[in-house]
Amino acid sequence: MSSVLDIARPDLIGLQPYQHAAWEPTLERMHANELPWRALGDNTRAGLNRYPEPQPRELVLGLASLYGVAPERVLVGRGSDEAIDLLVRGFCRAERDRIMVFPPTFGMYKVAAKIQGAGVVEVPLDRARGFALDEAVLLDRWQPGTKILFFCSPNNPTGNLLDTGVIQRVCSRLAGQALVVVDEAYVEFAGTPSLGDALDEHNNLVVLRTLSKAHALAGARCGTLLGDPSLVDLLRRMIPPYSLSGPTIEAALHALEPPQLAISRARHQMIVAERVRLAAALARLPIVRQVWPSAANFLLIESVDPDRAFRAAISAGLLIRDVRSYPGLGNHLRVSIGTPEQDDRLLQALEAA
Ligand code: PMP
Repeated sequence: MSSVLDIARPDLIGLQPYQHAAWEPTLERMHANELPWRALGDNTRAGLNRYPEPQPRELVLGLASLYGVAPERVLVGRGSDEAIDLLVRGFCRAERDRIMVFPPTFGMYKVAAKIQGAGVVEVPLDRARGFALDEAVLLDRWQPGTKILFFCSPNNPTGNLLDTGVIQRVCSRLAGQALVVVDEAYVEFAGTPSLGDALDEHNNLVVLRTLSKAHALAGARCGTLLGDPSLVDLLRRMIPPYSLSGPTIEAALHALEPPQLAISRARHQMIVAERVRLAAALARLPIVRQVWPSAANFLLIESVDPDRAFRAAISAGLLIRDVRSYPGLGNHLRVSIGTPEQDDRLLQALEAA
């Protein structure tokens, strides 16, 4: 099997990382030009006057165990957004290489490519088949230099799972030539296994997970990339050393404790039950033309009058997402599953509209 680094930017292979202050928690710190006192009101465990541990070991081990992979497969960063950015910068040469995306999908892949000066090849999902991948077209459109394919499953904003069989065949076909990134930001709500289980089979497979959605930590900014250890090693040399703040590390460690994990799992069940109820109730409203099946914590709806539906939600104090600018989603809105009370309020507002 070739090394996945054969696809990376050649000028980064030998990158010497920034030499951050040594992490020696048993010694008192006089090596990082920090102040020796805490700010008033700083109740954090480690103290905000101190730089945090880069790639904190306890957190890396906890995430490896949560996601069922070896710790050397884990890179933790400021949300999956940081991982997306690092991947594009690490693999795409400006003005030469490209990424492939499958619209309508999450917008950050394209933004990261634009910032890096990489091209973007778009292969639309097939709406007639419930926003499914078109395997023949994507393989036909792939060319050498298309370094990363970004699959989002469940896909934002359409909510459907992508066919893992197609994704794994693409991994095999493009081994040694392209990275296959599967963004699983919402997989906890899908009730299906993660593609992390297939990492041992494909060294060009990368899986993105996040604590933002299923673990209620969007404000903490903590995402995880799972991939081949050599790729993780390259990205660890590229990532800013103190990318994760001290409070984020503490919040993430707290989320991984068994009682909190049990609460999170119960909440996933509640969201799934509420998704079923909300989808059925929305589908009965005259202002809703269709509700797309969803495996995530949101619903994509097509409205007969999206402007009126959007305004009705606002007048009930609720902000839903206008996704009409996404390709192929002319009359669509996206609704995150809320509490039963919020969902009822939305239903009443849309019914009155
Ligand atoms: N991937 C997808 C599909 C998303 O919808 C989002 C957030 N909206 C992200 C990644 C970003 O997640 P994070 O908060 O981990 O950066």
